[in-house]
Amino acid sequence: MPELTDLTLTAARAALSRREIRARELTVAHLTAMEAGRDLNAFITPTPEVALAMAEAADARIARGEAGLLEGIPLAIKDLFCTRDIRTTAASRILDGFLPPYESTVTRKLWEAGAVCLGKTNLDEFAMGSANITSWYGPVRNPWTRPGEEVPLVPGGSSGGSAAAVAARISPGATGTDTGGSIRQPASFCGIVGMKPTYGRCSRFGIIAFASSLDQAGPLTRTVADCALLLQAMAGYDPQDSTSADLAVPDWSGGLTGDVRGLRIGIPREYRMDGMPAEIERLWQRGAEWLRAAGAEIREVSLPHTRYALPAYYIIAPAEASSNLARYDGMRYGLRIEGENLTETYRKTRGEGFGAEVRRRILIGTYALSAGYYDAYYLKAQKVRRRIAEDFTEAFREVDAILTPTAPSAAFRLGEKSDDPVAMYLNDVFTVPASLAGLPGISVPAGLSAEGLPLGLQVIGRAWDEATVFDVGRALEEAAAFTTLPYGLAEAA
Ligand code: GLN
Repeated sequence: MPELTDLTLTAARAALSRREIRARELTVAHLTAMEAGRDLNAFITPTPEVALAMAEAADARIARGEAGLLEGIPLAIKDLFCTRDIRTTAASRILDGFLPPYESTVTRKLWEAGAVCLGKTNLDEFAMGSANITSWYGPVRNPWTRPGEEVPLVPGGSSGGSAAAVAARISPGATGTDTGGSIRQPASFCGIVGMKPTYGRCSRFGIIAFASSLDQAGPLTRTVADCALLLQAMAGYDPQDSTSADLAVPDWSGGLTGDVRGLRIGIPREYRMDGMPAEIERLWQRGAEWLRAAGAEIREVSLPHTRYALPAYYIIAPAEASSNLARYDGMRYGLRIEGENLTETYRKTRGEGFGAEVRRRILIGTYALSAGYYDAYYLKAQKVRRRIAEDFTEAFREVDAILTPTAPSAAFRLGEKSDDPVAMYLNDVFTVPASLAGLPGISVPAGLSAEGLPLGLQVIGRAWDEATVFDVGRALEEAAAFTTLPYGLAEAA
């Protein structure tokens, strides 16, 4: 039997159901790893007591033969999902003491399936960022470092704590949210699998809103099979979210074959960007070759409006954020800093409660939505968004899935790009188009950079066709045979 923390979610589930291990010992092993990995700062609120109580309840249900889909499986939860009576902060000072009186639908489903809550993971403040450096609770460290180096690297963002926890074997799986790449990019930076499903697959009820027309929940895991299983437990129609789709949740896990024979895979010409590192280009080509060798047909496709995706996203997301974040005013819950009068109370509360990146986005968004500028910015961005979605519709007439790099680089140093928001926004260049179009996308670890850091490939699919995305992802995973552990962990083992 391998170390309990090395078990994939699928393997842990099998061992639990065969009663070779108990949920309690599995949870204890992960809580011990959490303690050992404290310097990663992956968790804002660890919940060891909750975890032990849930694990014991899971053991009792297993003993009674009442196991749910994820019975006894420890999970880490991005601190953007409201968890009843467990502090939920969005990594913002403004929500520092917030105890939600209700549970998000996604986490409720996970607990109903028998999963165990290890704690709430760190993120960029209100999920705005690509490096997990804007959190009020400090940055997250990537468990990966360059071989032989100690220099801390970022885990990507915004779901950086979730990605770091899964890569560091603190949790076999975690929840994330993805507005413009926040699941896929940290998965790529940390050498794990992450999927953003089709917009509407998972309920947004109880997920602290960033940009409502883009936000989607999704899983982060170490294998594609685990990703399919975890999404299955998270997804589903919810009358409490009017944008959640009234569709049955397929058995992605049972249906996963990795068989890509006869599938047509598109390589979008416009993703070959100026200044893209040669190693990313090579990895992408290798990915296409793997899929061809597995029986898929590779075709070039065109997504002509790709270069407008990033500018459109950085209008739409801040515009929606400026509206969503208006509710944090110190009146009902969260931080309140008294001023001389009401206006000053607002100003102080919001000025001190929000960090610099969040304030920047509120300002940009408010500007883009203001009278006189609305048509020039917001409306224009919405039109571009429509064009981008149409590009994908056209491409999906010719192909069944699209292969791209996940991010334009491997993990970078903590502190790099911090004073240049535009350089930071460029991280999302490959993930944002699928977000604007609402399409499912997965990132699968596919190789190492010249510096020895993980690099991911992204597969984008048709709306509601996560099944094909998982199969193509599985084929890549099999060909890449990426098993490398973060170096620090490998040495410790
Ligand atoms: N990095 C992107 C941003 O900062 C995406 C964030 C996300 O997907 N939540 O907006």
